[in-house]
Amino acid sequence: MKFCYECGTELVLRELEDEGMIPFCESCGEYRFPVFSTAVSMIVLNRDKTEILLIQQYGTENNVLVAGYVNKGENAEEAAAREISEELGLEVAELGYCKSEYFPKTNTLMLNFRCTVDSECLDGINRKEIDKAEWFPLEKAREAIMPDSLAKRFLCNFLDNLQ
Ligand SMILES: [Zn+2]
Repeated sequence: MKFCYECGTELVLRELEDEGMIPFCESCGEYRFPVFSTAVSMIVLNRDKTEILLIQQYGTENNVLVAGYVNKGENAEEAAAREISEELGLEVAELGYCKSEYFPKTNTLMLNFRCTVDSECLDGINRKEIDKAEWFPLEKAREAIMPDSLAKRFLCNFLDNLQ
């Protein structure tokens, strides 16, 4: 970041206690840390962890993971549970962190979680947000998920690390 995102003034490096040299806007009198969005993506498993839920959205036939942005003031675990509830109408029974990857196209840090949900029933899915949701056996999900996607890298990482 070379210029202040509030006023456009060129940033200078200034020392900040315990942080080192940080870009500083002399016009605003504020340090300017990197700005990016944070999102969560979830590998949704059924109770006995034999199937994974993949969804299709926005009129495409690509199978992807449930995902959404983290709201200001919310932690990532809350965002994950909220997205599962809002998009699938399901409650998260158990949630754990997997890994993250930066997604340059949308300037977003994606945090991937795996979670189990309390039911396999898909009657409560949000039809405005989701075109189709389907359960796949674990290895079938690997085949069905969108090729060359961040979702696929997250899913393969999860499956490859299963005992
Ligand atoms: Zn400024």
